Amino acid sequence: MRIIIIGPQGAGKGTQAAELVEKLGAEHIATGDLVRAEIKQGTELGQKIQEYNDKGELVPDEIIIEMTKPHLSENESWILDGFPRNQAQAKALDEALEDINEKVDRVIALEASDEDLVKRLSGRRQSEATGKTYHIEHDPPPEDSEEDAGPFVQRDDDTEEAIRTRLDTYHEQTEPLKEYYGEQGILVTVDASKPIPEVTEEVLKAVGENE
Ligand code: ADP
Ligand code: AMP
Repeated sequence: MRIIIIGPQGAGKGTQAAELVEKLGAEHIATGDLVRAEIKQGTELGQKIQEYNDKGELVPDEIIIEMTKPHLSENESWILDGFPRNQAQAKALDEALEDINEKVDRVIALEASDEDLVKRLSGRRQSEATGKTYHIEHDPPPEDSEEDAGPFVQRDDDTEEAIRTRLDTYHEQTEPLKEYYGEQGILVTVDASKPIPEVTEEVLKAVGENE
C-alpha cells in the first residue's frame, strides 16, 4: 500500500507513521529524516540544505525531489511523511509513480490548531540513538536504556521562530494539497488534536485496518 500522511508540523505524522509501519510492514519515508541524515553526515549537499532546515524553510524542490525519488521505487509499500509539501512536488510524485506504473492509494490529512501544535513541538524530543520521536508529557522517552538509550534532544528547528515559519508555509503551500487529493477521492481527514491512541485508531480505519 502507498500512503501519504500530510499535516502541519507537530500534528503527529511521524508518530502515526511508526504505528502504520508496525501494522502494515511498510517502509517509512520521512523526507525530514532524509534531510537531517544528510546534514548529520556533513556532506556537501548536507551543508547546502542545513540553513533551510534550521530556519524552518523548505529545501528547494529539485533537491528534495531527487532525494526522495529513489526511495519510492525501492519499496513496494510505503508511508510518505513530509512529502509532497507543495503543488510542484505533488506533480513530481505523480510523474515518478507513473514511470513505475504505480499510484498513491490513500492520503491521510492530520488536522490540529496552530496553538496546539506550538505547544506540542516545544515538548518534542528525538532520540539520538534511534531517531524515534517522543514528547516529554504525552509520550515520554523510556527510562529503560536497553530499549532506547537516547540522549533525547530537541530538534534544531523546534525554535519558536522556525515553528511559526513552518506553520505559515504549511497553510500557504501544503494545505491546498488536501483539495488536490480530495478531488482524486483518496483523501481521509483525521482530527489529530485527540490523544495519540485515538488518532491511531482513526488512522488505521483510514487504511482499512482495525475496522
Ligand atoms: P510531525 O511528524 O507531524 O511533525 P511528530 O510525530 O514528531 O509530528 O509529533 C510532534 C510531537 O507531538 C511529538 O513530541 C509527539 O510525541 C507529540 N504527539 C504526536 N501526536 C500527539 C497527540 N495526538 N497528542 C499529543 N502529543 C502528540
Ligand atoms: P520535517 O521533519 O518534516 O518537519 O522536515 C524538516 C525540514 O526538512 C523542513 O523544515 C524542510 O527544511 C526540510 N524538508 C522536509 N521535507 C521537505 C519537502 N518535502 N520539501 C522541502 N523541504 C523539506
